Amino acid sequence: STFVGASFGGIAELYAQIQKAIGATERVFELLDENPEKINSDSNNSKEKIKGNVTFTNVAFSYPTRQEIQVLKDVNFKAEFGQKIAIVGPSGAGKSTISSLLLRFYDITSGEITVDGKNIYDYDLEDLRGNMSIVPQDVILFGGTIRENIAYGKPDATDEEIIQAAKQANAFNFVDGFPEKFETLVGERGVKLSGGQRQRIAIARALLKNPSILILDEATSSLDSESEKLVQEALEVLMEGRTSIIIAHRLSTIRNADKILVLDNGRISEEGTHQELINLENGIYKNLSNLQFSNS
Ligand code: ADP
Ligand code: MG
Repeated sequence: STFVGASFGGIAELYAQIQKAIGATERVFELLDENPEKINSDSNNSKEKIKGNVTFTNVAFSYPTRQEIQVLKDVNFKAEFGQKIAIVGPSGAGKSTISSLLLRFYDITSGEITVDGKNIYDYDLEDLRGNMSIVPQDVILFGGTIRENIAYGKPDATDEEIIQAAKQANAFNFVDGFPEKFETLVGERGVKLSGGQRQRIAIARALLKNPSILILDEATSSLDSESEKLVQEALEVLMEGRTSIIIAHRLSTIRNADKILVLDNGRISEEGTHQELINLENGIYKNLSNLQFSNS
């Protein structure tokens, strides 16, 4: 299948490369940020239980290091509790930035983001993040056992719960195949897991954490089709009963989203269901869709 970025030619390629470099540092920060002290940001321990209504109102944003560039100019959308909202658009459009803002990795320049009607900056950060999980394109596990990596979502999880989460995440079989099973060491000194396996560990972790808001950031875009199928299945289980924000390259994975947002030049330029958007004459989504489905 083709990628959304493919239609943007050389620029997309360049962006993808820059993205890779920036993404790498960003993830390091995410890891640092999610230090073990924040383990209690697990939803079970959060003082405040979030339902999962999200709104962005006139949100504008520039990265502090590149203030001359307005990455988001005027972003407006609403995700209601339990909905699946997809965000598509070319590489570099600002899709991942939207998720970083929701997680409060950066502060918005202007506008407002609310969760359950309350400004996100009025939340205790632990409470806010404790109710959210993100599954990125490249999951980095920390050095430790598979059990520790899964239980990170809920430090007091029982063996039973860990096994159950691994099963639901389509991770149990490969874990069970290792001689040391859940005690298998991963990371630099441990076994090397494939991208899809790491993602399924992250999904098991998120299942235990039981967040109200789930962000999938191109979660299946770097996987081979066999792995993609297992991860996609696990994601379907994970998305049940939560608000999901799905950032996607492959349009095939978001066809049944409640709402698809097309991000273009810092703004949401189209919004609707798959059916509505493919009926928009000269629409961006319609063009991407034609491109992808004719090529795949
Ligand atoms: P997408 O996820 O749609 O590919 P991003 O949200 O990652 O796009 O990036 C949007 C724009 O912001 C791009 O121009 C990118 O280069 C820039 N950008 C992303 N992360 C950073 C950062 N940490 N610092 C500065 N600029 C960034
Ligand atoms: Mg991105």
